[in-house]
Amino acid sequence: ERLEPILVESSDQKSKENFLLPAHYESCIKSILISHGQILDRIQKLAYDIRRHYKGTTIHLLCVLKGGSAFFQDLQVCLRNFHNFTNQDYVPFTFDFIRAKSYDGTSSTGKVVVSGCDMEKLRGKDVLLVEDIVDTGTTMSMLVPLLVEHGPASVKVASLLEKRTPRSCGFKADFVGFSVPDEFVIGYCLDYNDAFRDMNHICVINDEGIEKFKD
Ligand code: 5GP
Repeated sequence: ERLEPILVESSDQKSKENFLLPAHYESCIKSILISHGQILDRIQKLAYDIRRHYKGTTIHLLCVLKGGSAFFQDLQVCLRNFHNFTNQDYVPFTFDFIRAKSYDGTSSTGKVVVSGCDMEKLRGKDVLLVEDIVDTGTTMSMLVPLLVEHGPASVKVASLLEKRTPRSCGFKADFVGFSVPDEFVIGYCLDYNDAFRDMNHICVINDEGIEKFKD
């Protein structure tokens, strides 16, 4: 049984006047959906849940680049800090990075291209994929079986976000931070044509942003 994510509704969007935003993006943002503080607090709990689930096992975190990298960084800080405050049920971890691309601008292409990971090294490991967002679920539903072919002990998925969309293929991650409405979100390493990764909050883009950063 998975623990359910925090439900974020469209009406939870905060006005731009409430938070600091990078000046180079301000005019491109419609609203703030999840503030950086909320993200960090939620990741602490996800790290706690992960630790409790895997207690006693060494896990192999597999960060899905580039979008998952901020989540991965903050998650591994939390997991590392647990080592300081407990003397039992350690969850030691190793990590690696993988590249999985399925998006072109704001639309899913339905295909996944994987690179940058020696999958032979996954044999016998308890792999935890660390991903930014599960949207249609295409990427994860193709990536997980691909990893399984290489003989890991287990493969699970931690995703910071999960989108409520009718285009979902039904894939569900095991550890999820927030369930978000069907909007294109940016910030905290989630990008639009590589822009907006360098913004702390998770925001909704506006038409000006789509126009300004289109390829
Ligand atoms: P899926 O295969 O689940 O449809 O999409 C997975 C990938 O598409 C994610 O890892 C992410 O890179 C990208 N993606 C999906 N939805 C969004 C979104 O709302 N914003 C951004 N920036 N990327 C998204």
